Amino acid sequence: MSDPLIIVGSGMAGLGLARQVRARDARRAITLITADSGADYSKPLLSTGFAKGMPPERLAMRSPIDVADALQVTMRTHTRVDTIDPRTQTLAIGAERLPYGELVLATGAAPSAPFTVSDEVRDRVFTINDLDDYRRFHGVLSHHGGAVRVAIIGAGLVGCEFADDLLAGGHRVALVAPEQTPLARLLPPPLGQVLGAALSKSGADLRLGRSLAQLQRDDEALSLVLDDGEALSADLVLIATGLSPRTALAETAGLAVSEAGIQTDRYLATAQPGIHALGDCACVAGLNAMYVQPLQASAKALAATLTGTQTPVAYGAWPVLVKTPSCPVVALPPRQAPVRWRIEGEGDDLSALAEDENGYLQGFALTGACVRRKVELARVAPPLLP
Ligand code: FAD
Repeated sequence: MSDPLIIVGSGMAGLGLARQVRARDARRAITLITADSGADYSKPLLSTGFAKGMPPERLAMRSPIDVADALQVTMRTHTRVDTIDPRTQTLAIGAERLPYGELVLATGAAPSAPFTVSDEVRDRVFTINDLDDYRRFHGVLSHHGGAVRVAIIGAGLVGCEFADDLLAGGHRVALVAPEQTPLARLLPPPLGQVLGAALSKSGADLRLGRSLAQLQRDDEALSLVLDDGEALSADLVLIATGLSPRTALAETAGLAVSEAGIQTDRYLATAQPGIHALGDCACVAGLNAMYVQPLQASAKALAATLTGTQTPVAYGAWPVLVKTPSCPVVALPPRQAPVRWRIEGEGDDLSALAEDENGYLQGFALTGACVRRKVELARVAPPLLP
């Protein structure tokens, strides 16, 4: 039998690809290798689980055994691939050498923190980027019982969604970030202010324009000192300061990588024959979108290519729906800084239209009742990857 198609990573990209390949080829030998527990889950639901009191078991749609059974694939969980040798077409897992026929990297992105977490506070400081992380955080929250004081560092999509979700779940939240308004990469300031006001109204203690300067243990609690000297007390800290594509494994194979991820063309092919990449780890034709619709389109295109029909991927004008029920937000960030943001609407219901020098729409951001405009605007905005 020929060497299998090996997919490293069983997140939405890796598993999505396995599903698509299996739908097109019932017999292809496929092995999925993952460093985590390998359950099939939807990552976007991690930041909606606390409001619903959702235990981690209910977020897992299928166990790895069920996945292997349903897709007729070999699953190796809690298994980290250390290096790739493209010359011999083998992967190294500890002392083991595993041959591959074709290889796909779907290694995702890892939380990056702008500060070091000391051993003294490590058991109280969390990131939530997969189901295993959610399980640990959920366990500690449940053990505390009642309203837990959580300081969230970072007010991007992940920080804002967890803030709103934890507040709705009855916890107390302080949101600390250096930007003056939340979601600053997606929303121009007037819309960021609307979201900030909604989070405050839901009970968030917003500490914007501030950074964390010190984090120490203080008996049973944590003591945070901000860069203006102000002190905060919290039971737990959740770090949400961004994600960086996991490229270390690709680098062992000599693949071209940058801060934006593993470089691929529109066929999701790296420069090394037989090695492809998709999902949060991949920078496809210069773009790493890091959300679900692009990775689904990539999985579909790559499955076609791997089963004999060379298919380039294209991304549409797909807006991001931010899960902050306190203030509905939808955004399609422009690929380049716009010449101007044209703001329309009033109160909490605002539309911000990113325009180029000729007045053409390049992207948009919507809050409140204006989120209804997403379909109409997406029709005229340029596709992310035509
Ligand atoms: P991951 O899910 O990170 O999977 C990476 C896999 O690689 C894992 O299985 C890991 O164990 C494995 N791996 C890594 N290195 C190795 C190695 N060396 N050896 C073996 N295995 C390895 N997007 C949306 O479109 N809408 C949303 O509402 C939304 N909400 C989100 C909410 C949160 C809280 C977060 C964190 C993200 C959200 N996103 C959302 C983004 C979206 O979830 C991600 O783009 C997507 O899940 C990424 O999937 P992935 O498979 O590329 O990576």
